Order: sequence, then C-alpha cells, then structure tokens
Amino acid sequence: MLSEIDFDNARIFTIPMVTRFRDITVREGMLLEGPAGWGEFCPFEEYDDRIAASWLATAVEQCTLGWPEPVREVIPVNCTVPAVGPERAYDIAANSGCVTAKIKVADHPNSLREDLARVEAVRSALGPGGKIRVDANGAWDVDTAVKHTRQLDAEAGGLEYVEQPCATIDELAAVRRRLDVLIAADESIRRAEDPLRVAVAGAADIAVIKCTPLGGVCRALRIAEAAGLPCVVSSALETSVGLGAQLALAGALPTLDFACGLGTIPLLTGDVVAEQHSLRPEQGRLRVLTSPTRPDPDRLAEFELTDPARAAWWRERLARVAAELEHRPDLRAR
Ligand SMILES: [Mg+2]
Repeated sequence: MLSEIDFDNARIFTIPMVTRFRDITVREGMLLEGPAGWGEFCPFEEYDDRIAASWLATAVEQCTLGWPEPVREVIPVNCTVPAVGPERAYDIAANSGCVTAKIKVADHPNSLREDLARVEAVRSALGPGGKIRVDANGAWDVDTAVKHTRQLDAEAGGLEYVEQPCATIDELAAVRRRLDVLIAADESIRRAEDPLRVAVAGAADIAVIKCTPLGGVCRALRIAEAAGLPCVVSSALETSVGLGAQLALAGALPTLDFACGLGTIPLLTGDVVAEQHSLRPEQGRLRVLTSPTRPDPDRLAEFELTDPARAAWWRERLARVAAELEHRPDLRAR
C-alpha cells in the first residue's frame, strides 16, 4: 500500500487556529496522494513515531483504498463551547445551529462556579429541547467527579453525558457505579493500549471514537464493534481532507444515537479544499462524502508550510513513520 503513494509529492500545510485549542495555535500536517485520492497525515507534534504510525495508516487507507459504504447520508454534529464566560458561551451555542452542545468543564481546580454559569447560559441558548454534554478531560478525582457532575446535571436540567470525568479506567468505573449520568470515555479509548478494556471494565456507557488516531475507518469500525458501546465520532482537528475519513466512519457505523464532534473546521482560520467543499456544518449537520475531497491548489498555496527547517522536519518524520508502519501488521486496513 505504501508503495502506491508518492511521498516526494506530499504537501505540508500550516493553518493558524482561530483561538488557542489543545495548547496549539497552528495546525500542521501533510497531504498525501494515492490511487484512491488524497489522505491527511497530521499527528500532533509531541507524538512519537509509534503513535504516529496509526495516523499514517489512516491516511494510507484513505488515499489507497477509500472508505466503506455509508449507511446514512447526514450526520448531526454538536457545537463545542470552550472554557469561556457565560455571555460568550450563550453566543456560541445560540449561533451554532446545533441542538447539541459539548461544554468544556474542569478547566482549573476551582472552576465549578464558572462551569455551572456556562452550563446555565448554554441551556438558555438551546432551550429545553437542546442536549448538553460536558467534557472534563480527565481532570477530576472520583469524589469531585461525582459531586460536580451531580450539580452540573441539576443545573443543565439533565446532562446527555459526562465525558472523561477522571483520567484512569478504574476511576471511570468507580464514578459510573455512583452516578446515574451516562459516562463517555474519550482519552481512555485513544490512550489505552487495548481500547476494548474500557468496555470490559464497565468504565463507560459511550465510546468517543476517532478514526484518525486509531488507524483508519475500517479499524475504527472493528474497534467500535468489539467495544459494543454506542459511539460518538469526534474530530482530531483535521482539515476537510482528513475530516472526510471521520465522516465516513460516522456514516458507516451500524447505529449512531448521538450527535458527533465533527464540527471543528470553524476552529481553523482556513481550509485546504475549495470553499464549497469545506466541511462546515450547516444547521448542525454534515453530509457524508462518497469519496475523499481533493485539496484546492490555491488553498494549498495559501497554507503551504514554507519554512525549510520545519518542512524538512515533517518530511523526515513521514519517512521514519512510514518505515515504522511497514512493520505493523496490526495497522493493516483490511
Ligand atoms: Mg473529549
């Protein structure tokens, strides 16, 4: 599969973020062309080659094989409300066109009062029919998770779920035994050597799943099936080229009961595809693609990474990770 890709022609992009997100201010990555179209290789800077190999497997699947047939055409998406004040939170939710909001909580140790105000603002923006989920990114201990989730659940008039309230699988399981609110595992699915351990341990009701770090759409579908949990597909801050793979996963899952976290293109100041193909949600929805989107030459030129040292770093990284992938039969798509 790797031999079918023209590595010398890989394009490197750098796109500033609208606001700092996940501690980054620019999103960088590479676009690779193969017989089935273009794929995106965009592991975060700090990831080692072993982890990056699964990101490359996703790009290789996309540009050499394409994706499985979708079983649905339209994916509802949530809006994302970062750790902002209540007025800003209200505006984000009210202007999103989404009926579901994911709210960042537990941003700092004494955040409860601000978290409650943010949840209250989003509830008034969405109205009683809206759905609210909160994401603590593993910040709480078990007791704090139970206490804070109960209060946030009461303030929200019912939470759809709490995402990754604690860091470890054992803590998630302990929280789950004490709470009625559904628990979603995110970091635990990505970081666990065996993502299925989350389900086996009774640690979560829902799996947040991202095909980009899991080695592709087909591999993510197998993991979802084996986990046996309802899934929420979520982005890894790809451009529209890579996000297409995540949409393909959301389109191919046998059941999809929740809005997905795929409305992330507006977090970037631009995109590598033509305006009309950019995967910006409309009325809280995205349409599943039938084949990968091509980058647009003008947009590629606009966002091409030109710093020679940085470009060399990416090309060397791609070569190393490709060599790693050669020895990873576990990451073969089919
Ligand atoms: Mg999360």
